[in-house]
Amino acid sequence: MDNIILEKGRKIAYFSMEIGLKKEIPTYSGGLGILAGDTIKASADLGLPLIGVTLLNRRGYFMQKLDSAGRQTEHPQEWSPSDFMQPLPAEVTVTIQNRDVKVKAWFYEHQSLTQETVPVLFLDTDVEGNSMEDRQITHSLYGGDRKYRLKQEMILGIGGVRMLKELGYSITKYHMNEGHSSLLALELLHQNNVSVSKVKELCVFTTHTPIESGHDVFSHDLVMELIGQNSDFEILKKYGGEHQLNMTVLGLNLSNYVNGVAKRHREISEKMFPGYKFNSITNGVHSYTWVCSHFRKLYDEYLPGWANEPELLVRVRSIPDSEIWDAHEFAKKDLIDYVNRECGNDMDYDTLTIGFARRITEYKRPTLIFSDLKRLRKVNEAGKIQLIFAGKAHPKDEQGKKFIEMIFRYAEELKSEIKIAYLENYDMDLSLKMVSGVDVWLNNPRKPLEASGTSGMKAAHNGVVNFSVLDGWWIEGCVEGVTGYSIGPRPEVDKSLEQIEMMELDDLYNKLEYIIIPKYYWRKDEWVNLINNSIELIAYYFNSHRMMHRYVTEAYL
Ligand SMILES: *Cc1c(COP(=O)(O)O)cnc(C)c1O
Repeated sequence: MDNIILEKGRKIAYFSMEIGLKKEIPTYSGGLGILAGDTIKASADLGLPLIGVTLLNRRGYFMQKLDSAGRQTEHPQEWSPSDFMQPLPAEVTVTIQNRDVKVKAWFYEHQSLTQETVPVLFLDTDVEGNSMEDRQITHSLYGGDRKYRLKQEMILGIGGVRMLKELGYSITKYHMNEGHSSLLALELLHQNNVSVSKVKELCVFTTHTPIESGHDVFSHDLVMELIGQNSDFEILKKYGGEHQLNMTVLGLNLSNYVNGVAKRHREISEKMFPGYKFNSITNGVHSYTWVCSHFRKLYDEYLPGWANEPELLVRVRSIPDSEIWDAHEFAKKDLIDYVNRECGNDMDYDTLTIGFARRITEYKRPTLIFSDLKRLRKVNEAGKIQLIFAGKAHPKDEQGKKFIEMIFRYAEELKSEIKIAYLENYDMDLSLKMVSGVDVWLNNPRKPLEASGTSGMKAAHNGVVNFSVLDGWWIEGCVEGVTGYSIGPRPEVDKSLEQIEMMELDDLYNKLEYIIIPKYYWRKDEWVNLINNSIELIAYYFNSHRMMHRYVTEAYL
């Protein structure tokens, strides 16, 4: 304990319900958490005075097991916080249903290669003096019912601000990521004589989802039950919605700077929330974290300093093509060996390998490539392909779970022709294996539901070619035939949903058959060119260093 020296100069508090720093700390579920982790890491590299705030999630998200039919079961991911972080003696309370719930914090310190550090506070209610029920508030990420969620958000928002104050930090910007932490603005109102203009000055709000149901809404009955019918309730009514508490609206109303996470997402957000002005800062990934060992070695040799200056990747052509190709082949071998070991497949190293891994849910359309098996077979006859899938479905997303089972059925049906594997328990380590080890990274969400997406940026960092619907970041990243390939029309094309899906399917099959396969098998030099372009024109820009420079100059300062 005595060896923690809290460095009180931290000015920016980054709040997120989930933060994904590494596989062993399973307090993340998907893109939002990974982005938060990458933000912490880039901030440390750059020496920014930032501090992360999140919940401890002692049971993690969940560990996924799949049976032979692809049926998912969920298991707790018990982990031991004391292996990674230290408990702080400080304690604050948050009043929930007239009970004082005690909140403590664990102190984690992310250490950058540049020797700078960024701390993260993991809030914990599983402490002595709390009831059994209250102890569970910080156990499960995205678990439980609405009441459980609102309690978590009270701890994160209100408890988080109180803890920062208790520890002696004087924060000048509170960065809310999604509405999960919007209640921090309520607490700031109390700390600032209910001055809305002062609080707005202190707050930055980033929305990460263009889906209506992705925005947290709570009934006033529930708010009254947990918070009480008092002045707080009146404030929440005034700034968070007359009829129900919309956490995004609360964040929007109490922040001077508001942004979406890609240019397109900004437009969609302004349509969803008329009257609010959004900025846009396109997401990026932490380059060092998301480059596999083989490419790290190459970049270290030819582009020294790249890890803290990923712009240097723009000079990727100083690396000989043969070495680029070898690095890719090594990464691919690692993945194929892993698949064959895990799934008992006999995939080979020379077959064009397509990867698809992300949260499994309807809008991501994980089975789109199986829409027309005749055409998929024709693609495979033009030049062999093999497919590798991974991803968890939320425990309550029955439809998402069905998608996994469907992929297992297609794999069985096609097994004599196309090798298809589904890897269990998608996490950060598996993600890196996949985004570096396949040849083509497939992404086909239903537009415009992908706010940004980041896995394709990771793929590009490893010279893996993007093949994606023009949504989120890819609208900005895609130069057709140069940095990768698009699926379907540009976003501004005005067509019915059915027509768009037809065009997407045409592109999916035609580009594979007539462009991607021929290039991969018979024009290797052009393929290596695509690899180089991905690194030169995507990775050098779509990284979290560039993203944090933007947040600092536009949102924080
Ligand atoms: C990068 C990453 C994501 C986000 O990927 P998207 O393509 O943006 O959905 C989700 N989960 C894990 C484990 C990741 O590493």
